[in-house]
Amino acid sequence: MTKQDIVKYGDPILRKFTSRVIKFDKSLRKLVEDMFETMYANEGVGLAAPQIGVSKRVLVVDVDYPSKRYIDEQTKKEVTTYNSMVLINPVIIQKEGQIISKEGCLSFPNVYFDVIRFKKIAVKYQDLFGKERRLLAEDDLLCRCIQHEIDHLDGKLFVDKPSDEAEMKKNLQEAGFGSVSSPPPAVLIG
Ligand SMILES: [Zn+2]
Repeated sequence: MTKQDIVKYGDPILRKFTSRVIKFDKSLRKLVEDMFETMYANEGVGLAAPQIGVSKRVLVVDVDYPSKRYIDEQTKKEVTTYNSMVLINPVIIQKEGQIISKEGCLSFPNVYFDVIRFKKIAVKYQDLFGKERRLLAEDDLLCRCIQHEIDHLDGKLFVDKPSDEAEMKKNLQEAGFGSVSSPPPAVLIG
């Protein structure tokens, strides 16, 4: 596994619509390993392939990682529980409701603001072996995180969905980011 550099906002790859994964081969497994290595090293709960410079529809998530690190009483060592998930070619097939909560993004260091998301989603995706799977998420970190990462695959970023634009602009400015560009036009995918 190799830790990769995180692509920061301003790099055009973050605004590109990514391509579908067709081959479920060794190079895909290597990409996913690198994504996990990079996500954990940066203490993120999710990462999309464009964030390490690969314009493909691949994302990794582990929403338990930050909350499940603790010091073992006996050994006095840090213990970590992993709950890693890989979603290839994910598509939101059902969505309803609305939630607003604070989000950050590894491509925007030190920027946090309220973002609007669906409250409940059903997602269709493929696993590392190309098998089709589905998942439901509602009103939790997983639900928001998957929406954030799928947006990355469409060239959309959390700066496109603030609940309070003034709050977002202030945060961006304080973190050294200037004005933000628009997402690419919508593309239909199956
Ligand atoms: Zn992000």
